[in-house]
Amino acid sequence: MGMFDGKAGLVTGGASGMGASAALAFAREGGAVLVADIEAMRGQGEKVVADIVTAGGRAQFTAIDVSKEADVIRMVDETVSAFGSLDFAFNNAGILAVGFTHEVEEADFDRIFAIDAKGVWLCMKHEIRYMKEHGGGAIVNNASEAGLVGTPMAGPYVAAKHAVVGLTKTAAGEYANMGVRINAIAPGAIATPMVLTLPQPVQDSLVAPQPLTRMGTPEEVAELVLFLCSDKAPFMIGNIVSIDGGATSNAQSYSPETSPSA
Ligand code: NAD
Repeated sequence: MGMFDGKAGLVTGGASGMGASAALAFAREGGAVLVADIEAMRGQGEKVVADIVTAGGRAQFTAIDVSKEADVIRMVDETVSAFGSLDFAFNNAGILAVGFTHEVEEADFDRIFAIDAKGVWLCMKHEIRYMKEHGGGAIVNNASEAGLVGTPMAGPYVAAKHAVVGLTKTAAGEYANMGVRINAIAPGAIATPMVLTLPQPVQDSLVAPQPLTRMGTPEEVAELVLFLCSDKAPFMIGNIVSIDGGATSNAQSYSPETSPSA
């Protein structure tokens, strides 16, 4: 028996990184999954789908842009028409742009907000519209540790991820009594293309605040996403669950000097 036998859902940004790991994990647990990502990621998205189908699961790819409402409506409709329901959703698609506050271009600010903040709102809007009429469901939004604390050279990203936190907390309360459970996760440095393509010194600076001195894996994040979407978390709503190697639990970095030697 899988945790998601007989259930269906969607993962945005499902072609890569945490989205791909979560899509594979939902399918391993019996869930049918719509893997949604931008057209440019079709090849990788179809590979995720092929891996799921080869392993005996059910999945299909759809090309969408989470910042466009018509695309998001179509994504929800396609999940229901392909698999019969929408029981879980991982609103995970996001982009990062780096630069000091005085250097960021207006167009980059707008693009980050359109995808990282408005995209999550649009997805919740249309997922909730379906779920509240069909017996409920579970939604997890991918915020970030940058949704909880500041991060140098990432002002618009930090602001957009704080917006995801606010949207999550608000919607979680609004639909609590309609069977729609909404939470967010706040990952620290996770080994995905988003981070692994940054210059090494930037990667090092992301890992530095973490007492667990390595990057997390997308598979570790998928475990948390599945738990929050599953029947094992019935009393959890409106939580922003950190999965960050301890980064946000301490104001100062750990080092050999600040940890016991034995
Ligand atoms: P990733 O780049 O591997 O995956 C992001 C996916 O989102 C890509 O497949 C991309 O094509 C897709 N995407 C981008 N814009 C889109 C759009 N407009 N519509 C639909 N899909 C779109 O990176 P990842 O690390 O797996 O990122 C997943 C999420 O996790 C993001 O929201 C990111 O901000 C967040 N996050 C990442 C880290 C990290 O350390 N990697 C930490 C905290 C939060």
